[in-house]
Amino acid sequence: MASVEQAPAAAQGGTGIPVENPATGETIATLPTLSASAVKALVARARAAQPAWEAIGFEERGRVLRRAQKWVTDNSERIIATIVSETGKTYEDAQLAEIMYAAAAFGFWAKEAPHFLADEPMKSANPLVKGKKLVVRYRPVGVVGVIGPWNFPLTNSFGDCIPALAAGNAVILKPSEVTPLTSLLMAEGLRAAGLPDDVFQVATGDGATGSALIDHVDFVMFTGSTKTGKKVMERAAKTLTPVGLELGGKDPMIVLADADLDRAANAAAYYSMNNGGQVCISIERVYVEAPAYDEFVRKVTDRVKSLRQGRPSGPGSIDVGAVTFPPQLDIIEAHVADAVAKGARVLTGGRAAPGPGMFYEPTVLVDVDHTMSCMTEETFGPTLPIMKVADADEALRLANDSPYGLQASVWTKDLRRGEQLARRVEAGAVCVNDAQVNYTALELPMGGWKSSGLGTRHGAGGIRKYTQQQTLLVTRFAGKRDPHMFPYSKRVTKLIGGLTRLLYGRGKRA
Ligand code: NAD
Repeated sequence: MASVEQAPAAAQGGTGIPVENPATGETIATLPTLSASAVKALVARARAAQPAWEAIGFEERGRVLRRAQKWVTDNSERIIATIVSETGKTYEDAQLAEIMYAAAAFGFWAKEAPHFLADEPMKSANPLVKGKKLVVRYRPVGVVGVIGPWNFPLTNSFGDCIPALAAGNAVILKPSEVTPLTSLLMAEGLRAAGLPDDVFQVATGDGATGSALIDHVDFVMFTGSTKTGKKVMERAAKTLTPVGLELGGKDPMIVLADADLDRAANAAAYYSMNNGGQVCISIERVYVEAPAYDEFVRKVTDRVKSLRQGRPSGPGSIDVGAVTFPPQLDIIEAHVADAVAKGARVLTGGRAAPGPGMFYEPTVLVDVDHTMSCMTEETFGPTLPIMKVADADEALRLANDSPYGLQASVWTKDLRRGEQLARRVEAGAVCVNDAQVNYTALELPMGGWKSSGLGTRHGAGGIRKYTQQQTLLVTRFAGKRDPHMFPYSKRVTKLIGGLTRLLYGRGKRA
């Protein structure tokens, strides 16, 4: 593979972006911002390389992906070190949610792509096509552009490239300008696994680089904020390019009075603070039925108080890492200040921690309501606002009172009631007595409702979106002229009328 990613900024016709370690404040690399013309050139190379990659078929592509899987496990320490250095997250957050995900995903798509994208022989009840061969097939779109966020540089930026490659596409990844190093390392991994030149390329740069990519590719897979997602869709409309959008969330947790409060409290602390709360499917707000409220709040606060925060220095060193993206710290501070100004109480945390590096203390807020931004807007930080509700109906009404619909959770010992409540939550995924782990089941579709996105990743839909459906109809046995062809005749017209009534006209009238 050509080393576009290592080329100096000047060679790419752009300027350099410094990459910072958010846990130390040190600049660890400077990378080129690719210009629109450099992006166009990358896409041209991808287009030239793609047909051969498609032609080698699932088996050969699967071999490359399996070698890449092995490369990930062999090089896991190096990848973790890279992720930790550019995000400031803990070793564990990089290991569980990134290395394990990528290693599993390479194997999953290598194994499942041939099944999800196999030709589908069809049967039709329509007499006009009787005896003909009917097939639906999936053909790769060509060049896929993946644009990713900074919170999971491996899982959420690179992860979406794997099914695109497995389907036979060439891919250009535009990682977040905040965390581009992991993507470049993965380019090295794919090269080592034998991926042909130019089938995978990394376009480093900012929003303008991402925007330019949209103009030239055949599908845009975007993960990021809802605000940018709308801009991506608008830009893609100019060329009628299809998009997949995985956007922001404000995931509610509903705790019913009969829940196992120890498990619920452990989960609330973990799934709101893991990855520093910078998870699209973080628990962002909690509604607790009144009888369980005091005990739940006490248990959660105890657990959050005991969390260790700081610069990660290897396995087990800390629980909560840095705030990866500087402007995020301002959003977290603004949400907490707004809540406090409107009457909320901070039970623990509530402040940015002293540097070097960017940290916000793990924070529990109570006496919150929906006039406060911490309950209605995505905070994306280590904060957990908890609200007392009268009953499950009030919890459900408040959970659905959101423009977002990414994920949610319901906690109760009554599994039937829990599942019934889960089915009424407006979100793309809902867990009962759990959170987030559905993401690890690559068989399950994952995608947001409402302003949380468009389309899904994982499952059959997670790879079919990178293809175009093509219908094939093959007529094998036929005469010189079918009866419905020209010239029209009274006799055939009457016959077709009779046939229509016979086939479809026997239903009962309402
Ligand atoms: P962001 O929207 O600011 O940026 C995402 C990417 O878009 C970056 O690579 C950025 O350079 C690029 N970009 C910016 N402007 C662009 C434009 N006009 N055209 C094309 N590309 C452009 O998001 P972020 O701050 O990096 O990530 C955090 C957000 O991502 C949160 O809202 C989080 O919920 C969301 N997220 C969602 C999921 C999911 O699966 N639903 C997963 C992870 C993160």
